[in-house]
Amino acid sequence: MRKDASREQVDHVVERAHSFGFEVQLNLGTEKTVVAILGGDTGKVQTDVFAVLPGVEGVTRVMKPYKLASREFHPKPSKINVSGVEIGGERVVVMAGPCAVESEEQLMETARAVKDLGAAVVRGGAYKPRTSPFSFQGLEQDALTMLARVKSELGIPVITEVVDTQNIGLIARHADILQVGARNMQNFALLKELSKLRHPILLKRGLSATVTEWLTAADYLLAEGNRRVILCERGVRTFEDSVRFSVDISSIAVVKHFSHLPVIVDPSHAAGHFAYVPSIARAAVAAGADGLLIEVHRNPVEALVDGLQSLTIPNFERLMSELKPIAEAVGRYI
Ligand code: PEP
Ligand code: MN
Repeated sequence: MRKDASREQVDHVVERAHSFGFEVQLNLGTEKTVVAILGGDTGKVQTDVFAVLPGVEGVTRVMKPYKLASREFHPKPSKINVSGVEIGGERVVVMAGPCAVESEEQLMETARAVKDLGAAVVRGGAYKPRTSPFSFQGLEQDALTMLARVKSELGIPVITEVVDTQNIGLIARHADILQVGARNMQNFALLKELSKLRHPILLKRGLSATVTEWLTAADYLLAEGNRRVILCERGVRTFEDSVRFSVDISSIAVVKHFSHLPVIVDPSHAAGHFAYVPSIARAAVAAGADGLLIEVHRNPVEALVDGLQSLTIPNFERLMSELKPIAEAVGRYI
């Protein structure tokens, strides 16, 4: 409360808190009064409700706004089973493949190669969220058929992005993990629909989202009882323009501290250039990431999307061998 707040103004705040069913503790200092508002559901009420009351100096939220994604809700780290692959366990799960599915041969060749080199999941975009409407938008349904073929022929789970609510059912029938892209992290209509599924969902961090906003978005996915949510750090916008996005390595530790959800890192979209991908990937594994999402193309020169940041198959092979001792050094394996 403000220094000059009257007893009536303090009482008014207390009444307001009680009207929401909250408990109140008054801290009557010599300078000013602090009203502590307590209750399991304080997250449901906006701080503004109290901030607008006469005599209030400011409202500070002590509890985090997210709940289901928090360690308080679920103290042990979540391990998520994706068609037999455990994410959040001892294995550092590498998901690799082209940015976009471009043809049956391109996908199959890349998928076979990354699988042989130790990838546990194959990635491939069917619907691409492009910055320009004139850019290649993906092979859509045809790509889903190709991904399903990878899954059945190679016996490896596949991940692909869902860009809107219309195609959720279709994508869920073809893919093992549904990816929510950075641009959709706060597309709440999409998150709410996805929450109704029981499919594993990979939630990328928004381009300028704080860790708190990211975990609060994860709460949307967990809200209807879907427990299989994986987070993906892919870099955020900063003043630095020598890379596409600045990967926030510290977010791995912060997420692990506050949340039970597994977190993986996408070094490709952060780097924007293949030359920087291995270094970021190694740092991520050293920092305790549960996995990596890496773009690999059989011939990046011909890629329709993100060729510059895609690793060739030999470069991916080199990276996988570099990652092995790092994973072992932090008590994991690849
Ligand atoms: C992707 O993984 O292909 C992608 C579009 O990533 P992001 O949403 O992180 O930009
Ligand atoms: Mn891409």
